[in-house]
Amino acid sequence: MRILPAALALLTLSCATNPVTGRRELSLVSESQEIAMGQSLLAGTRQETGFYDDPALTTYVADLGMRMAKASERPDLPWEFHVVDDPAVNAFAAPGGFIFITRGIMAYLNSEAELAGVMGHEIGHVTAKHSVSQLSKQQLFGVGLLAGAIAAPEIANSGIGQAAQAGAGLLFLKFGRDDERQADELGHRYSLHQGYDVREMPKTFATLQRMSEASASSGRVPGFLSTHPDPGDRVAATQRWADTVSSYANLEAGRDRYLRHLDGVVFGNDPRQGYFDGQRYLHPVLKFQFTMPAGWQGVNQASRVVAVEPNGQAQVEVSQVAFATPRAAADSFARQQGLQLLGRNDDRVNGLPASTISFQATTSQGASLTGQATFVQLGGAVYRVLGLTLTQAAAQQGSAIAQTIGSFGPTAANQVFQRVRELDVITLSTGKTVDRLAQESNGAATATELALINGVEVGTMLPTGRLIKTVRFR
Ligand SMILES: [Zn+2]
Repeated sequence: MRILPAALALLTLSCATNPVTGRRELSLVSESQEIAMGQSLLAGTRQETGFYDDPALTTYVADLGMRMAKASERPDLPWEFHVVDDPAVNAFAAPGGFIFITRGIMAYLNSEAELAGVMGHEIGHVTAKHSVSQLSKQQLFGVGLLAGAIAAPEIANSGIGQAAQAGAGLLFLKFGRDDERQADELGHRYSLHQGYDVREMPKTFATLQRMSEASASSGRVPGFLSTHPDPGDRVAATQRWADTVSSYANLEAGRDRYLRHLDGVVFGNDPRQGYFDGQRYLHPVLKFQFTMPAGWQGVNQASRVVAVEPNGQAQVEVSQVAFATPRAAADSFARQQGLQLLGRNDDRVNGLPASTISFQATTSQGASLTGQATFVQLGGAVYRVLGLTLTQAAAQQGSAIAQTIGSFGPTAANQVFQRVRELDVITLSTGKTVDRLAQESNGAATATELALINGVEVGTMLPTGRLIKTVRFR
C-alpha cells in the first residue's frame, strides 16, 4: 500500500492525547491537512482496490451522498462518493469528505433509505471530525517485517510488510465506540432530513448481524462489522430513534428504485481480477498462475498480488512492469540506488523468457533485506515476481520464496475458471421461496445467500409481483 507512509507521517506529526477521553487522536489538524489526508487515501483506494465501473450506479450513489453532505454542517468540503470494486461488505470515510461504499455492501441493502443510512453514517464521521488516528495496530504493526521506507525505490514501492496489513485490500479507519454511536445518530438525522423512512436503518444492522453469525464458523467477519462494532446494540439504538419519529406519512424507503440500480452488479469475488483457489493464484484474463506455500496469505489488489508468509517474514509480489523484455526490466531494476547486487542470470522460468536479479538492500531503519526479482515474459507482457525477506530470515525463507517464484507460469489451456456472478433483479411472476430461487439459479447462489441479500428467511414465501434480488452467472 503506497498510501500508508504518507498517512503515517501525518499521524506522527499530529497525534496527541485528548485530555478528556485520554485517547490519542489527531489534534489541531487544519481543514487543508484533513483534505490532503483524504486525497491520499482516495488515491490509494483507487489504485489498490479500484472503483466499480458502472457510471449509472456511481452517479446514483454520488447524487444521494451529495444531497446529504450539502445539507450537513460541512457543506463546503470537496465531497466525493465512490463505489469501490470490492466484494467485502464495507463502507468507510476518509477525512476531508471522501466517502467509499463497496459494491459488496450494496448487494445486501434493500432500499434507498438503507443506503442513505450507511452514507449518512460515513458522512457523520467527517462532519463530526472524528479522530482518524486509529488506524488499527494490526494494519500498522501486525506484521513482523518493518513498515518503514526502504532505500531502493522499486522495493520501497513494494511496501514489504504492508500488503498483509491491507487485509481485504482496503484501508480501514477505526473509530471509537462513541464515535460510531454518534455517526449512527447523524446518519439517522441526515436520512430523516432527506425524507427517508428511518425504520430501514435497523434492517441494515440486522442484516450485518446475520452475516456475522453466518460467518462466525468460517472466521470471516464482514468489514463493516470489524470496523463498526456491536451490530446488536445498533439495531436497538436505530430502532429507538426511529420510534421517536412522529409521522411516517411523508417518508419513503425507495425500495424498488434502489433495487433497480443493482441489476447486473457483480456479486461476490470477481474472478476476472484474479483469485486464489487454495494456495494457487489464477488469473483468467492475463492467463498466469503461481502457487504460494501452505499457510501463506494471499492479497489480491488492483495493481498487484502479494503472497505473505504468516509471520510476515517473507513475501512474494507479482505485478506487471512497462518494459518490452525481461532483460530490459532487470537492467533497470539493477540500476536502482541502494541495491547491492548478489547475482544475475537469464534462466527461463517454466519455459518462459526470464531474467533474475539477486540482491540485498537496507531499509531506512537499517534492517537488511535479501531479495530475488525475476522478470518473466508471458502473453506480450513482462511480469515482475519479487521475493523479499529479512536477511536474518533468508536461510529459513529462501527456498519458499524461490519455490513460489519458480511456480509462476501460464495457466493450462484447459483450465476451468470460476464464473462471474451478478445480481439479477426480477419481479416474481409467481410467489416462491428463496430456496426455490436458489434452485432456479443453477448454482449461482445458495438459498442462504439469497435470504441474506433479500433480508428474508430461507422459507419465507415471497409474494407474486414483488421485486427481489437473485443471482445469475454472467
Ligand atoms: Zn463508522
